Amino acid sequence: MSERIEAVRGTKDVLPADVYKWRYVERVAADTAACYGFEEVRFPTFEKTELFKRGVGDSTDVVQKEMYTFQTKGETSVTLRPEGTASVARLCIQNGLFAGLMPLKLFYSISCFRYEKPQAGRYREFHQFGVEMYGSPEPHADCETICLADRILRRMGLNDIELKINSIGCPSCRAEYNAALKSYFDSHVSELCGTCTERLQRNPMRILDCKCPSCAAVASKAPKITDYLCQECREHFGHTCDTLADLNIKYTVDPFIVRGLDYYTRTVFEFIDPRSGLTILAGGRYDGLVSQLEPKLKVPGLGFAMGLERLIMIMSDRGLSFGEHKTYDVYLAGLGERGSRLAFNLAERLRERGLGACTDLMGRSLKAQMKYADKTGALYTMVLGDSEVDSGSAELRDMRDGTVRRVDLSKVEQWF
Ligand code: ATP
Ligand code: MG
Repeated sequence: MSERIEAVRGTKDVLPADVYKWRYVERVAADTAACYGFEEVRFPTFEKTELFKRGVGDSTDVVQKEMYTFQTKGETSVTLRPEGTASVARLCIQNGLFAGLMPLKLFYSISCFRYEKPQAGRYREFHQFGVEMYGSPEPHADCETICLADRILRRMGLNDIELKINSIGCPSCRAEYNAALKSYFDSHVSELCGTCTERLQRNPMRILDCKCPSCAAVASKAPKITDYLCQECREHFGHTCDTLADLNIKYTVDPFIVRGLDYYTRTVFEFIDPRSGLTILAGGRYDGLVSQLEPKLKVPGLGFAMGLERLIMIMSDRGLSFGEHKTYDVYLAGLGERGSRLAFNLAERLRERGLGACTDLMGRSLKAQMKYADKTGALYTMVLGDSEVDSGSAELRDMRDGTVRRVDLSKVEQWF
């Protein structure tokens, strides 16, 4: 016998019992972003590989090891998006959005693909809710983006997520910092993992992001970027921190947050779940990204992405609410041929009015139908037999409190 086909490792099904949680978090996030003037965009699942190489950065783990890249029949190399920022920047350039009103505020809710080792909170296909703000170099833009992230998490009921922020400077102050880092790590090269030995040549800042314990130990004593910021970057970071403090947003400055993608400049931040240690949401400023993709354009940008699997997992662990898991309104049980026909008919009339209605499709007995109604969470039930057909009225039972009302079967509009 041939083997049963199962889902690919690192991917996940979402069953009906959980889909409402997804809808809830996506709706809350989208509504909150809309309160800040962000509008939704949608874009393709795959892009030319070159976009991510140039946008995300050739030396990043994502581009080096994690991309799902394949050749199309036309021999173009394409890649399943590992994140949304590079695609949105491409979308804005291609559709002329940078010529419009600034700031430009966009959000998205997408699937992403990364070839990583699957484990708790880490998948190969996962989902992100993300925002992108373009056009403003001001520290207030950094703060508004962080406020939005903070508000989304609070609206989900998460009040104890820790915000860590840092500034990784601009290319000019980073050059000096990179040189200092390189000479520090050069003197500790025997303590670094194989990947970090390579990183030391390509991009020493990446070592600060390594999750391997011996690298983390060396990294904890490395020079700090905050000691190397140029005056402008230092002022920008100072204003950002002061404004957050004004707004009573609690944060800690963590000079070792560097983020895994090449496009970041200045402010970077992460919201971390203190219980699991997982980062739920991460982002920052990327003033160089657009010109990396389109040298004629210079548009400052910033944004964040929130991992939806991690968010839902963390909310579930804490028993937080995902709103109401609504099923359907009325189960119409049919008894006998005439009763069943009427039930079938009434169900359609209820649906026409936008209400949810179900009726028997399995040829079940009345008792079995009522059991089904109960198990599937019908809010109301109604039994329709010969006497209901003859009298033109029936009892509508509220399943939550057991109360019963007699209603006119010809006036569905008066039932609720
Ligand atoms: P990590 O350090 O955990 O690998 P990252 O720096 O690669 O995260 P980003 O690229 O900034 O993460 O993505 C933003 C968010 O997307 C993360 O904070 C996380 O919540 C989520 N995320 C990233 N990779 C995965 C994955 N493989 N599976 C599930 N969620 C993910
Ligand atoms: Mg990663």
